[in-house]
Amino acid sequence: MSAPLLEQLIDALRVLPGVGQKTAQRMAYHLLEREREGGKRLAETLAQAVERIGHCAQCRDFSETELCPTCANGSRERSPRELGLEQLEQRLAEAEVQELIIATSATVEGEATAHYLAQLARARQVRPSRLAQGLPLGGELEYVDRGTLSHAFGTRSEVRD
Ligand code: ZN
Repeated sequence: MSAPLLEQLIDALRVLPGVGQKTAQRMAYHLLEREREGGKRLAETLAQAVERIGHCAQCRDFSETELCPTCANGSRERSPRELGLEQLEQRLAEAEVQELIIATSATVEGEATAHYLAQLARARQVRPSRLAQGLPLGGELEYVDRGTLSHAFGTRSEVRD
């Protein structure tokens, strides 16, 4: 026999990051007591999103289509190929590499690239890390002074899912 639905709901809510038993319980009670409509919408949207959202074949950003609208428009100046991903994969495959330090900008595109690179690294047992915040927002590395840069390297942190 399977667990009562309420228990299953609480258990299911715990897949969310940072949600433990107590929070999951509160969420479940809240949904059942005053947000049944919202709960329904959440369930339906979630089911559809998980089913239909994949990764753009070109930039690896989330997309519902093979190519995201940006890539499909061809408005991108640099494709992943031009980012040197093939060479990077080769380097990662050579056993010597232990850590991949990612220094993409804090834009949506930068975040997506960082996420993708971290996956690449992990797939090859290489530890991905990212420069700490503190670099100017949207700042290009070339223009950052040495002190700021070395601080960012010193306080880099491992990338987690
Ligand atoms: Zn794309």
